[in-house]
Formats: sequence, structure tokens, C-alpha cells
Amino acid sequence: MPIYDYHCTSCGSRFERLVRGTATVTCTCGSGAVERLMSLTARPAASAPVGQTPAPAPAAGGCCGGGCRSHSH
Ligand SMILES: [Zn+2]
Repeated sequence: MPIYDYHCTSCGSRFERLVRGTATVTCTCGSGAVERLMSLTARPAASAPVGQTPAPAPAAGGCCGGGCRSHSH
């Protein structure tokens, strides 16, 4: 069963919910004013909160990371 991310436009909370068929999703605050967000697996890594994603390694690709002197830019 798919798990979706939901955002409650009433209280602003965000939660995940198993969705079965056309079941109506309501927030824990009781509001039905929720909007479905992209699935967890499809969420871009760039939108992950800081601290949960390892910092990108410097000098990615082995060029222009500070130690590249083979050519100028
Ligand atoms: Zn709510």
C-alpha cells in the first residue's frame, strides 16, 4: 500500500498516511483540509532538512574543489 505525505492546511502539520483506495484523509487535528505531497521516495534530496543529509563531498569530480591547478576559470 502506498504511503503518502500530507500537509494540513488547517494546522500546518505534516504527516504520513497509508492510503487505501479513496479513503478520505484527515489530519490529526480533525481537519480534512489536507493536500497530498510527493511520495517519500520521490522527494528530492535537496529539500531534505539540513542535518539529515550528509554534506556533499568537496572537490566533487576531482576538479575545482580548491586544489585544481591544471586550468583556469
Ligand atoms: Zn491539521
